[in-house]
Amino acid sequence: MSLEEIWEKSLSLIEKKVGVNLFELWFKPIKLVQLKEQNASMEIPNRFYKEWIEDYYPNLMSDALGGVVGHPVTIKFKIAEKVDAELKKMDARLEGRKQRLANKGIHLNPKYTFENFITGPSNQFAHAAAVAVADSPGMSYNPLFVYGGVGLGKTHLITAIGNIIADKRREFNILYVSAEQFTNEVVAAVRHGKTEELKGKYRNLDLLLIDDIQFIENKNATQEELFHTINTLYERQKQIVLSSDRPPKEIKAITDRLRSRFSMGLIADIQPPELELRMAIIQKKAEIEKIKLTENVVAFLATKIKTNIRELEGCLIRLGAHTSLTGSPIDVDMARDVLKDIISDDERPVTVENILKVVSEFYGIKCQEMKSKKRTREIALPRQVAMYLSKQCTDASLNDIGKNFGGKDHATVIYACKQMEEKRAKDEDFDRKVQGLINRIKT
Ligand code: ADP
Ligand code: MG
Repeated sequence: MSLEEIWEKSLSLIEKKVGVNLFELWFKPIKLVQLKEQNASMEIPNRFYKEWIEDYYPNLMSDALGGVVGHPVTIKFKIAEKVDAELKKMDARLEGRKQRLANKGIHLNPKYTFENFITGPSNQFAHAAAVAVADSPGMSYNPLFVYGGVGLGKTHLITAIGNIIADKRREFNILYVSAEQFTNEVVAAVRHGKTEELKGKYRNLDLLLIDDIQFIENKNATQEELFHTINTLYERQKQIVLSSDRPPKEIKAITDRLRSRFSMGLIADIQPPELELRMAIIQKKAEIEKIKLTENVVAFLATKIKTNIRELEGCLIRLGAHTSLTGSPIDVDMARDVLKDIISDDERPVTVENILKVVSEFYGIKCQEMKSKKRTREIALPRQVAMYLSKQCTDASLNDIGKNFGGKDHATVIYACKQMEEKRAKDEDFDRKVQGLINRIKT
């Protein structure tokens, strides 16, 4: 097969995976320029392509190519455009660092540092906990359990702990794995009778970072191994850091004793980012990548993309790629046009029903229960929260709000609002939760 034929076939595999729109935009402009045994060299228009593909589809091209030629392939990108000298230096520095750590068996994304992590009320708590753990691993919170929705910075934050400890404590034995990878290792070790080796690997660490721990639900052997790993490390005062898309009590299919281990140190949540934080993140990222943005464009992006920071960055990279290809500056009209398949212009109005749904999900109760006459604390608090949020986030009158809660009168709603305001002022943790709910409702 010629180079062209190989690439042609790979491209059609890629197109099937990502769909025609993303394919046309990101993959079609790529050329395969060389293939020597395992090593492929690709030419791409500019560095945003590299960044976007590495972020969203890190293995797609090598898998496709490998599938066509019948053996594994490693890809190197060559950027067609002349790259800004400073950016080139930065990339080389990051690549060097990544390689140095990889040689020690530590696989950490070098970009995920505390320096690059912007804080606001929604993530401040988790950030502070991570910094404390990085400062005195094994001595402050153990395990540290970070949870939050998709694309809110969990991986970034726990990786930052690894990055800083790798720098400051060179003798430390550090391991970062996804829970999926850990599971695969356990399964393989059991199958090949190599559980002792696995124990040797995981129980002699100074720092163990496991990402997306919710993955071990229903996986009994993995849970068993993890339980003993955590115990051993904990007893030796070695630091454990876990991330999850939900809190321990909502990871249902795990053993109680493991859940209690998860909850033994500190549980820190990351809530969806507030507007100011979204703007700050865009600005920082644009600055790093040397993308010129006006205030208007920053505000436009931050108001259109509300929950997922990865998506926010994805938009920025797409704009960077576009302006780099066309040479035209980024303004709001251009942004709207380039991102039209990602952002929609229809703003959904917030309704009381909507709020009931979000709040009941959050507290793990039924919507119906908030409308009932039940006065138990498990129901009363969520009900008051939902009333308060209905007042805050909709135009509904007090009477209308009351009606939505099983025919309460407006005085009950006023009372709930007052209670909630007082509680927010007094109780920081509660305040953060309410703010998180508001962010969720407004998306
Ligand atoms: P998660 O693991 O929670 O799904 P990630 O840690 O992968 O999310 O974050 C998604 C993207 O958003 C990453 O590129 C990360 O660098 C970025 N990001 C998330 N939170 C922040 C933050 N507070 N400041 C800067 N970048 C952030
Ligand atoms: Mg993650």
